[in-house]
Amino acid sequence: MNIKSKLPNVGTTVFTTMSHMATEYNAVNLGQGFPDFEMSEELAELVSQAMTSGMNQYSPMAGLPILLERLAEKVYNLYNTQVNPLTDITITPGGTYAIYTALTTVLQPGDEVIVFEPAYDSYIPNIEINGAIPVLIPLEFPTYSIPWDLVKSKVTARTKMIMINSPHNPTGSVIRREDIDRLREIVKGTNIFILSDEVYEHLIFDGLQHESILRYPDLLARSFVCFSFGKTYHSTGWKIGYCISSPSLMKEFRKVHQFNCFSVHTPSQAGLAEYLLNKEAYLQLGSFVQKKRDFFRSLMAATPFKPLPSFGSYFQCYSYKELSNENDKEFAIRLTKEYGVTTIPLSAFYKDGKDNKVVRFCFCKKEETLERAVEKLAKIKALR
Ligand code: GLN
Repeated sequence: MNIKSKLPNVGTTVFTTMSHMATEYNAVNLGQGFPDFEMSEELAELVSQAMTSGMNQYSPMAGLPILLERLAEKVYNLYNTQVNPLTDITITPGGTYAIYTALTTVLQPGDEVIVFEPAYDSYIPNIEINGAIPVLIPLEFPTYSIPWDLVKSKVTARTKMIMINSPHNPTGSVIRREDIDRLREIVKGTNIFILSDEVYEHLIFDGLQHESILRYPDLLARSFVCFSFGKTYHSTGWKIGYCISSPSLMKEFRKVHQFNCFSVHTPSQAGLAEYLLNKEAYLQLGSFVQKKRDFFRSLMAATPFKPLPSFGSYFQCYSYKELSNENDKEFAIRLTKEYGVTTIPLSAFYKDGKDNKVVRFCFCKKEETLERAVEKLAKIKALR
C-alpha cells in the first residue's frame, strides 16, 4: 500500500526518541518533561472512589458539569474573570489535544499563524496538517523574549492566529504585562485569534504573576486558552486538560472535539472536581517547583554548563558552548550514551534546526535524581 504522508517532513517526536534512548542506555532521564515522584494519594483515591461508586459511563461531551463549574470558580478566584461553565470550557484528553483542536477549529488552507521559536514541537505540524502556514519568529536569544516590532511587521491580511506560550516550553521564559499590552495593540481591530498555551500556569517562580489571557476578557473573546491537569497534579500520564474560550468560538471547538474523542475519562473528571476544592494543592505548586529549580541550579554550578534564565515551567536550559563544538543533537546523544544523562536538544524546537548549543533539562524530579544526574555531568571534560 502506498500512503501519501500528510506530514512528510515529520519524524518521531524528540521526547519519544530521547526517552527511548534514556531507557536503552540506562541514563537519568531529564529529557521528556514529567515528574518522577508520586502524585497526590488523595486525588488517586478520589478517582478510584468515583470508579467504584459507578461513575463509569460517558460524561457529557464538554465535560462533567461539576468539574466545569469548579473550573469556572477557580478562574474567577485566580483571575477575576467570569467564564460560563456551560458554554466556555471543554475538558479534553490533554493540553496538546486542546491545542490541536483549537487550531483545527479555526484554520483554513493558506491561513498564516504566527509562531515563536523555539516552539513546542506539536505546534508547526498541527498548523501544517490543516493546510495553514506557520510564520516563524525567533524569540530573542538568550532571554527568549518576544520581538514585538518584528511581530507587527509580519502581520498580513492572511494572519489568522498568534500562538503564545507562558510559562514557556522549552525555555522557561514568561510573558509580562508589557507583552500583553503589545499583543493587544497588534490584534485590536483585526480578526486575529490568539492561542494561549498555559499548561504551566502554576509553575511560575520568583514572585512573578502568571499573565493568563483569562485576566483580560477583551482578549479572551478572541482566544483559545489551553491547560493541563497533568502538569498541575503531577499526573502527566492521565492526559487530561481543558480549553477555555468564548461562547461562539467554543461552539465551533466542540464541533471538532465531539467527532474526535467525544468525551474524557469520567472517573478522573469526578476526582478532579472534588480535588479542585483543595486550593492549596495548586497554589503551593510554584514554590514547590521553584525549590527544585534552585536545587538543580545550585548543583549545576559545579559544572561548566552555563544557565539561561528560567522563570517557570519544568525546564531549565543550559548552554554547553564552553564544552563542545558539537551540534546540540550530537551533544545530547553523547551525553546519554557516555555520561548517562538525557536532555532535549533545543534545535528540536526550530523548524530549521537552529543550534545555539543549548540543551533543556527537566528539573521536576526527586532531589536524589537531580543529584545522581549532576554527579554524572560533573565528570564531563571539554571536548575540543
Ligand atoms: N510536554 C512534555 C515535554 O515537553 C512532553 C510531552 C510528550 O512527550 N508528548 O517534555
